[in-house]
Amino acid sequence: MTADLVSATWSGILEPPATCPEAADIVIIGGGIVGVSTAWFLARQGIRVALCEKGFIAGEQSGRNWGWVRVQGRDPREVPMMIESLRIWRTLAEDIGEDVGFIPGGCLYPARTQQELASLETWQDVAQEYNLPTCMISGDDLAAQVGTAASQWLGGLYTHNDGRAEPHKAAPAIGRAAVRAGANLMTACAVRGIETEAGNVSAVVTEHGTIKTSTVLCAAGAWSSLFCGSLGISLPQLKVRGTVARTAPAKSALRGNVFDHRIGIRPRQDGGFTVAHGTLIDHSITPATLRYARKFLPALKGEIRSLRISFGKDFFDELKMPKRWLLDTESPFEAMRVLNPEPNPKVLASIRKNLAETFPELANVEIVEAWAGMVETSPDVVPIICAEDTLPGFFIATGFSGHGFGLGPGAGKAIAAMLTGDDVGIDLSAFKLSRFFDGSPIRPYSLVV
Ligand SMILES: Cc1cc2nc3c(=O)[nH]c(=O)nc-3n(C[C@H](O)[C@H](O)[C@H](O)COP(=O)(O)OP(=O)(O)OC[C@H]3O[C@@H](n4cnc5c(N)ncnc54)[C@H](O)[C@@H]3O)c2cc1C
Repeated sequence: MTADLVSATWSGILEPPATCPEAADIVIIGGGIVGVSTAWFLARQGIRVALCEKGFIAGEQSGRNWGWVRVQGRDPREVPMMIESLRIWRTLAEDIGEDVGFIPGGCLYPARTQQELASLETWQDVAQEYNLPTCMISGDDLAAQVGTAASQWLGGLYTHNDGRAEPHKAAPAIGRAAVRAGANLMTACAVRGIETEAGNVSAVVTEHGTIKTSTVLCAAGAWSSLFCGSLGISLPQLKVRGTVARTAPAKSALRGNVFDHRIGIRPRQDGGFTVAHGTLIDHSITPATLRYARKFLPALKGEIRSLRISFGKDFFDELKMPKRWLLDTESPFEAMRVLNPEPNPKVLASIRKNLAETFPELANVEIVEAWAGMVETSPDVVPIICAEDTLPGFFIATGFSGHGFGLGPGAGKAIAAMLTGDDVGIDLSAFKLSRFFDGSPIRPYSLVV
């Protein structure tokens, strides 16, 4: 069993592009699941798309997440896109001709107290509105999902056709499908900035050359705020660190994804389990925390019991990072090819303890790999997907918070339609960046992860 199955996604040899295209119909900044899915949907229509990734495809959030593909528990604003995304996931392997590890193995949020149970039950209203097969389960039905561990819980919210996929496989496979469909995917290719003519986007400047284009999508994940800021566009975004572990193959009655405040766990395609703490996430205070504090207050209140807040080096590193740069000199995106936080050893110890206590049959299973990822989040924990009115030709798709892996293919389809002016099929008005500046109440509905 290799100890770098997952981390190999962001630790191989980086291949810069042999050449940089002179022009493209659309340029995408960022090779996470959102960028590659959009590229795939565009390239299939014969659109000349160039995608620039400063590091590895799926080297940041998209290769490091838990792999949950779920509609259950989501903010109602995300539900239509997630329903479409789940539809795409079901046939994705067939459609792209490569395995992505998708299994509709179900999603369970079990409750330890009556209060938790009552709170979970409220999501049934959303499920009913969208005709989802979500239900409350207990007793034998609960035991059928988790075995004897069921005795710890009173019952739970369950959606049988939610699922999981393998993050180290999915976005790279979609990226390769985009290439086969004609997209130009470039790794080790940071975008430094945008050129304009008469106020419209006219080109994208990369470290390897300039690509003429009238349309740019910023799908830069945790870097979107910095990139947009360099163009004078304020985009409120903060980062939290999630620590994740994977076990060796092991026997357990556990069938699907299970999440409560102590544990987030799902079976892996290789017979092991991907495990995380149900709620513990780290936030290191940075200048962005102070800058956007007011907008993030509602989210902070909701997460206050989960957040481990610290102050230290990250503050000064971000402070030192240039906010603007000349386009013919190295940008911060080249200076940090991969945002690669260390897993938190204290969180890892809690993961180990909670795993043993929740699923005793896994108490002695070996943890074969651990990693961390920076989840980037918007103030209401829902994505930002829109055109930027102050810069015609510039579009944004970011802020997916802890939900963007599952949403990725559905988002890619909707974003491709937004970029080409086609029928998007779902209403994107709830995802405008302007909602954070026009006095709309900022109301996070769900948790960051
Ligand atoms: C620990 C953890 C657990 C999670 N669990 C889940 C889960 O179970 N289910 C779920 O649905 N979601 C989950 N998420 C969230 C999900 O991973 C993200 O929402 C999703 O991957 C975001 O995809 P993205 O393409 O927007 O961003 P990313 O994957 O971050 O990709 C953005 C890319 O842009 C590149 N980039 C940035 N700036 C530039 C530039 N200037 N030039 C070129 N390239 C640039 C970066 O290198 C990066 O590769 C989790 C995230 C983490 C970290």
